[in-house]
Amino acid sequence: MKTILILVFCAAYVIVSAQAKEYVCTPCGSACDKTVHTKPGACPTCHMKLVEKAAILFENLTTDAFCKRITENPNGVLILDVRTKSEFEGTSLRTTYGYFKNALNINVEDLEARMGELTKYKDKEVLVYCSQSIRSPRAAMMLTQNGFQTVKNMSGGVSTLRVDGNECLMRNFVVHK
Ligand SMILES: [Zn+2]
Repeated sequence: MKTILILVFCAAYVIVSAQAKEYVCTPCGSACDKTVHTKPGACPTCHMKLVEKAAILFENLTTDAFCKRITENPNGVLILDVRTKSEFEGTSLRTTYGYFKNALNINVEDLEARMGELTKYKDKEVLVYCSQSIRSPRAAMMLTQNGFQTVKNMSGGVSTLRVDGNECLMRNFVVHK
């Protein structure tokens, strides 16, 4: 009798927790990232795969908080720029804004393949950015899935930075001329 009761409770628990699962689209920085779905599938807006909300383990920081992490923890952070090489270097025909000093540049499209290069930074706090925070949330998600424990994404991306008059940014961000 007791065993049956335990089994019933276990089954009920499994059903309840399965129903409680929440899904969101693979983070791309669009407004639909915030819509919570109750079943897996694809996002009706951006058509990206829905992932379990609980699997999204990175934090979004404002541009000021992002810069502050660099000054507070200079040797403990890896700054990762996931734009293209030409955006990073300022040779792209697009507006390129600039880059954070000491940032490592790996295009988000190459990140999965080049993940091995980041193994030596596994204990560091990873600060990820791009130009509009569309590519960087995707990169941040990949990093957490590959075992990086502390991953932070810059909301808005470098296109939203106001460097003039911002002491932290003037020290840490190089504006492309
Ligand atoms: Zn979506």
